[in-house]
Amino acid sequence: MSQNPFQIGIVGAVPSGCYVADALARKIPDAHIDIIDRLPTPFGLVRGGVAPDHQGTKNIARQFERTLGKAGLRFLGNVSVGRDLSYEELKSAYDILVIAVGAMEDRKLGIPGETLDAVYGSGQFVAWYNGIPDGRDLAPLLDGKSVAIIGNGNVALDIARLLGKTPAELATSDLCAHARDAFEAANIEDIWLIGRRGPLEASFTTAELTEFGELSRVATRVDPAQLPPDCPGDMSADQRKIAEKNLDVLRAYAARGEQNERPLRIHFVFNAAPVEILGESRARELVLEKTRTENGKAVASGETFKIPADTVISAIGYRSTPFPDLPFDAARGIVASAQGRVEPGVYTAGWCKRGPQGVVPANRADSLAVAELILADFATHDTPCKPGGAMIDALLAERGARPVDFAGWQKINAAEVAAGEGRPREKLVGIEELLAAARS
Ligand SMILES: Cc1cc2nc3c(=O)[nH]c(=O)nc-3n(C[C@H](O)[C@H](O)[C@H](O)COP(=O)(O)OP(=O)(O)OC[C@H]3O[C@@H](n4cnc5c(N)ncnc54)[C@H](O)[C@@H]3O)c2cc1C
Repeated sequence: MSQNPFQIGIVGAVPSGCYVADALARKIPDAHIDIIDRLPTPFGLVRGGVAPDHQGTKNIARQFERTLGKAGLRFLGNVSVGRDLSYEELKSAYDILVIAVGAMEDRKLGIPGETLDAVYGSGQFVAWYNGIPDGRDLAPLLDGKSVAIIGNGNVALDIARLLGKTPAELATSDLCAHARDAFEAANIEDIWLIGRRGPLEASFTTAELTEFGELSRVATRVDPAQLPPDCPGDMSADQRKIAEKNLDVLRAYAARGEQNERPLRIHFVFNAAPVEILGESRARELVLEKTRTENGKAVASGETFKIPADTVISAIGYRSTPFPDLPFDAARGIVASAQGRVEPGVYTAGWCKRGPQGVVPANRADSLAVAELILADFATHDTPCKPGGAMIDALLAERGARPVDFAGWQKINAAEVAAGEGRPREKLVGIEELLAAARS
């Protein structure tokens, strides 16, 4: 290993970037590490994806905060690669560059009607309610009686649950004020949760599914005919355990009866593939095709039906957004790499490496493996030190960029917590507001 300090640049402040930074800081104690993020705030999807009513999950941010505050490590927020700095410049500046930019661009449904008004990707919708600055102006149309959410993962359940909660049930969340107002003004009567495959193949977790049973104004609707009597014999023990628990919850929902006194119904619809969104200028109906599941795949039946859908939200997965010159696998929507090696000196970690799957802690093992790879690559040869942060600072100053450092983030945090008034925080959602708080 070189006697000179290694200059390490990590793009994407958390979680994966932070896990890699922490591992490298432990093994190369004199390294200089810059963690660059396009937002003035750290924590990526922990702040901007994880549901605002799941504060327990968000607590993991404290662990990342400790890493960001370590000596030898700098947070450079409000610095977007592709806008303020180029990939080539980063390679010139750092001996080791790690790309951990996540994946938040919505995958398309690829059906007619997708461009109508009131049709949103979950990435857009979640960014809006979670106060990601470039999502705050979405103003989604929630003025109808019926919302269709396409997808059977936890993100689809998050959206349905938040729309189903009463203001009192949202009181301990950090749902942004603009979203609270919009949810309160909405008068939704039916939410349709639609899966192309059956309940056994759904990727939501039992804990998230169970929460619907606790919502005071929500009636759960499940057609018992859609629930198989048991799990097939060829299922792995792990899959069987999850599927059986989910089936139990769905059976209990089916057995709850009509609950007509409750004003909002959440319908679980399985084996239904979206075919077309109908409406003049905005969504009004969703055409679905019945499917059956064969070998884990949805097989179309040719038989279609319609549901009312004044708003359609697709929650069918994400792609990463590349910046110029970054080696990119466009078909898979991830950074092109061999187990995390992008090119000499450049690595990738997290969702942009392996695709948008796995919860926050799942990124830890993956990030540690990438850190090991980096250490192995650099153990055998001395690398001349590159200029690191000094070069980056000069470029940012030349371009009039306004980076936010860790102390700036702490000021933003304090301002948001103070504005919370009983809530965990009231997020600042505009870049200028965030920068003003960071400078205060
Ligand atoms: C809606 C939603 C809800 C979720 N809920 C949960 C949950 O309840 N529990 C759980 O454990 N997991 C949850 N997850 C999964 C979890 O968020 C991911 O596993 C994790 O965030 C992936 O980490 P990452 O570091 O790869 O990406 P990210 O968290 O997306 O972090 C990437 C970072 O890169 C930055 N970045 C992007 N582009 C650039 C650029 N050009 N220049 C500079 N910086 C850039 C971003 O601002 C971001 O901070 C959820 C995911 C979503 C989408």
